[in-house]
Amino acid sequence: MALHFINNRGVRSASGQTLPVTDPATGQAYDTLERGNAADLDAAVRAARECLAGPWGKLSAAERGRLLFRLADKVAQHADELAAIEQRDCGKPTKQARADALALVRYFEFYGGAGDKLHGHTIPYLDGYSVLTWREPHGVTGHVIPWNYPMQIFGRSVGGALAAGNVCVVKPSEDACLSLLRVAELAAEVGFPAGAINIVTGYGHEVGDALARHPGIDHISFTGSPRVGTLIQQAAAERHCPVTLELGGKGPQIVFDDADVDAAIPFIVNAIVQNSGQTCSAGSRLLVQRGLYEPLLQRLGEAFRGLRAGPPAADLDLGPLIRQTQLERVRGFLDEVCRDGLPIVAQGQVVAEASEHGYYAAPTLVRDVPPQHRLAQEEVFGPVLAAMPFDGEDEAVRLANGTAFGLVAGVWTRDGGRQLRMARRVKAGQVFINNYGAGGGVELPFGGVRSSGHGREKGFEALLGFTTLKTVAIRHG
Ligand code: NAD
Repeated sequence: MALHFINNRGVRSASGQTLPVTDPATGQAYDTLERGNAADLDAAVRAARECLAGPWGKLSAAERGRLLFRLADKVAQHADELAAIEQRDCGKPTKQARADALALVRYFEFYGGAGDKLHGHTIPYLDGYSVLTWREPHGVTGHVIPWNYPMQIFGRSVGGALAAGNVCVVKPSEDACLSLLRVAELAAEVGFPAGAINIVTGYGHEVGDALARHPGIDHISFTGSPRVGTLIQQAAAERHCPVTLELGGKGPQIVFDDADVDAAIPFIVNAIVQNSGQTCSAGSRLLVQRGLYEPLLQRLGEAFRGLRAGPPAADLDLGPLIRQTQLERVRGFLDEVCRDGLPIVAQGQVVAEASEHGYYAAPTLVRDVPPQHRLAQEEVFGPVLAAMPFDGEDEAVRLANGTAFGLVAGVWTRDGGRQLRMARRVKAGQVFINNYGAGGGVELPFGGVRSSGHGREKGFEALLGFTTLKTVAIRHG
């Protein structure tokens, strides 16, 4: 029975209602979580405000950093336990679950060392004046988190907010929140004061909506779908609350015919099968220069046929999707592929040991996808790669920029000039040249343009978003 975490202890919902926790590998419920509402969210905000006015507000940046370092160590000690929780909750293969736990450690380390390096400036001004700027925390930050990488997104978002001096109210996904409740307990054990980290579980339209509207929340960091991002921003606009939106993507992998194909293939495959394709930065579109199109599809077809989806503990290429509706979504896209006669180059397999009640989807490579087809335009959030040819740089740029999104792009070419031209012309928050994802990169600012959102998380840049700038002008004569 998982409880909300408010004021450093587990609490029941005011309503007494719960929700089931389901194992995506079997479709079976195995636990419950609290179905929170506006009253629970309000209790969390009150706890946070008291903490801010009390012990948290008195800590120096260095002391906050020390707490984050201690939490990093504690999470490292509990990495296997946290990975096991995440594995069962989200259906992640062992390698991925473990990588997520270690990324959480890195986020706490990185932000533990960053908060006391955040400083303002002095500005030359009129005779007799001195002007300085201070970076101040917003106060209570709200964090709405999706189910695909709960630990990683908690680490980057809450880690950055705490380092900058904020206290946090977190609304995790109703589909994956157990690891975060455990991390909050570990934070209490290493000395985070009561109210610094609060977690209220439940549905988005109940707890998430209450968070977006609560006047005691001073900044919102939302990671999730463009649809809900719009709702959050509209609600926040009513009270002029600043919002960071980390939304979806339709990442293009742009492969020119001078590319190092041997190097590219593992990246191209991994970028669409990692986390079963349920990744905002998934490389879900493959744009290939015409001369390389047939040979590359042939080699990728072989690679796709060798991919296996199966039980998370078997640690295969893919685990199950998160839930039944997500599986239906992926099947819906594949039904359209068949209806429209688009050629499927290859599919991987779901192994026989996988439960028939689990939410498994076979990875699929589809070719000759028209640029305006729904498969080329919308986020599937599943392991389906849409390939299409292009003729030259201009067409590659047009196709790459031809969706509503702009999160991440990959460019594969040995031509140095083209590398830089493409990096400039592609609309995206991150561009990777001859790699994709650069190993996760806790240090690398991340975020989107257009319908992929605005604001940046990760890296030092995130601290700017978790603070507000105050200008102080002193007339001293
Ligand atoms: P989602 O938008 O359905 O849910 C995200 C969170 O919002 C959940 O906690 C949910 O409970 C909450 N929510 C739902 N309705 C709400 C409402 N009316 N008001 C307030 N909160 C509400 O997204 P999801 O299905 O959990 O995650 C998948 C999406 O997240 C994809 O679009 C993916 O690309 C995106 N994503 C983006 C990033 C990024 O960094 N850009 C990272 C991971 C996931």
